[in-house]
Amino acid sequence: MPELPEVETIARKLKPELVGKTILDAQLRWPRTLAFPSARKFKEQIKGQQIRDVTRRAKYFIVHLSREAFSLLIHLRMSGDLLIKARNIKPEKHDRLILRLSGDRSLVFNDTRKFGRVWLTANPESVLGKLGPEPFSKGFTSQWLHTALHNKHRQLKPLLLDQTFLAGLGNIYTDEALHIAKLHPLAVSDSITAEQAQTLQDAVRKVLKEGIRRNGASIDWVYRGGEFQNHFRVYDRQGKPCPTCGTKIERILIGQRSTHYCPNCQMR
Ligand SMILES: [Zn+2]
Repeated sequence: MPELPEVETIARKLKPELVGKTILDAQLRWPRTLAFPSARKFKEQIKGQQIRDVTRRAKYFIVHLSREAFSLLIHLRMSGDLLIKARNIKPEKHDRLILRLSGDRSLVFNDTRKFGRVWLTANPESVLGKLGPEPFSKGFTSQWLHTALHNKHRQLKPLLLDQTFLAGLGNIYTDEALHIAKLHPLAVSDSITAEQAQTLQDAVRKVLKEGIRRNGASIDWVYRGGEFQNHFRVYDRQGKPCPTCGTKIERILIGQRSTHYCPNCQMR
């Protein structure tokens, strides 16, 4: 499942291809891909809009449109993918939404497992409003993190995965950040000291930055082109030596999510 660095990488690639293009029409091939509005309204409202910009918030793509400050929001979830193709190419089996564009192009949302969702709205906050801060925003300081951790009484791993707490982290980057910060994934949030919060804040930014620099991680059949998977410290490395101390990395399940950590570096 793509996390902040993967979504950022895809957004950066799509932007130069999409900005300035006009959306000629929309083919909705799997109605439930569209979360809002109705299919009829969507097709009506998106037609003729020009793409002004492509940005990211948390794990959402935001395609900024020309008319009435509309935004097209896209969340890839488990298996979604966004592809630029020729305008009149024959659709593939799992293509859920196709936007035909000017310049003989189309933007194709392909999604094998159908969990991905698309919104077209003049009020993006209705979808994005509950998200926690962006890790690269000014608001994400170690003081903020320390206070926020103490306002909760939750285990670190599930708390960091919670997008309403902090935006953008998923399974990979959470495990990597906790390893750098030497914090156990089951440590309870309100036991974290100010110094540990500082280390964790640094670690979160560090792993996300490295992920972006390496074009994200390519660990499944959908997202290709990244190479962060060759630099994992703990993620998917159970039984292999910890890069810091050589102890074997362990894998445990926390809330159904596989979690990787070094039992020596990340003691409870
Ligand atoms: Zn270790």
